[in-house]
Amino acid sequence: MRFAAAACALAIVVCVAVFGAVLAQRATAPVVTPAPSASSTPTAKSAPAPAVAAAPTAAKAPASTVVAAAPAAAAPAPAPAPTLAPTPAPAVPVADCPGNRDALGISRTVEIDTTGGPGFGFEHFKQYDFLQPGEVVLTFDDGPWPRHTPAVLAALAAHCTKAIFFPIGLHTMWAPEILRQVAAAGHTIGSHTWSHKDLSKLSFQDAKDEIEKGVSAVRWGLGAPGSPFFRFPALKHPPEVVTYLGQRNIAIFSTDMDSFDFKIRKPEQVISSVLTKLKKNGKGIVLLHDFQKATSEAAPELLKQLKANGYKIVFMRAKEPVQTVASYDEQILKDQKLPTVTNRPTSDVVHTIQ
Ligand SMILES: [Zn+2]
Repeated sequence: MRFAAAACALAIVVCVAVFGAVLAQRATAPVVTPAPSASSTPTAKSAPAPAVAAAPTAAKAPASTVVAAAPAAAAPAPAPAPTLAPTPAPAVPVADCPGNRDALGISRTVEIDTTGGPGFGFEHFKQYDFLQPGEVVLTFDDGPWPRHTPAVLAALAAHCTKAIFFPIGLHTMWAPEILRQVAAAGHTIGSHTWSHKDLSKLSFQDAKDEIEKGVSAVRWGLGAPGSPFFRFPALKHPPEVVTYLGQRNIAIFSTDMDSFDFKIRKPEQVISSVLTKLKKNGKGIVLLHDFQKATSEAAPELLKQLKANGYKIVFMRAKEPVQTVASYDEQILKDQKLPTVTNRPTSDVVHTIQ
């Protein structure tokens, strides 16, 4: 009996133990087992969901983000980030400017999404206030021109800094080698019409021809399209032409400060004009002319003075090159009676060897 009682007790203990173990396993199993499958399935399902949701965000972001600076909305979406920030800004540290310890350099580079034709320059467009106090964007119009444009390029190179150039189409046809020097130095090249007519006095078709021939001339001169940046001659902005540039996704550049250097003959007056207006405004896009002799002579001292007064250069470049219109690419060649077999400049073809 004792044995039977002991065996019964043992059996009860074993039963309880087994039942307890089963219970314990049951208690843990639903938690452990379904958890991974439950969590993995929604994860697998939810993974594509943000990616799909992020795609339209990424596509919309550039349209609203005109001046590239990582938009807050894009931050939580890691996948599209590489496509939103294609290339690092090539800022030139001042210390790396050979032979010039007091070089202006480039404080920062901004990339412009020209979708919809944004306007810059507070004289006419007040939407994009992206410059910090003391920041300056240098722009040079009406080139390329012998001696004057190369002199401006040399001054900029001596300071390891960069600017935007708005060349005239006809000048480009006359001196494509000089425009190529501008491109080789890494500056941004927009366009400034074919023959510098006041577009507010032309029919819409003639204004369009002036713009497109100017854009195509830059392409011919460089052998590649320039940037979708445009400046109206005399800063006259006919509304229907502004709308057209918007449809062409070409950004419009007015100015924050017009140096009026085209009215000035003495280099020192060009310098004082710029510095006086900058002091008043504190920052801004400055309009100068590489076409002008006084400006070309003023450039080295002007840049020195900008540095001495603590200004910083912001370099603006476009996210994408401009799309030229094929019919205008062809038209400028016909107008100039230029051969279509090659667009290489004379200096590339004819070399003085002795
Ligand atoms: Zn001009």
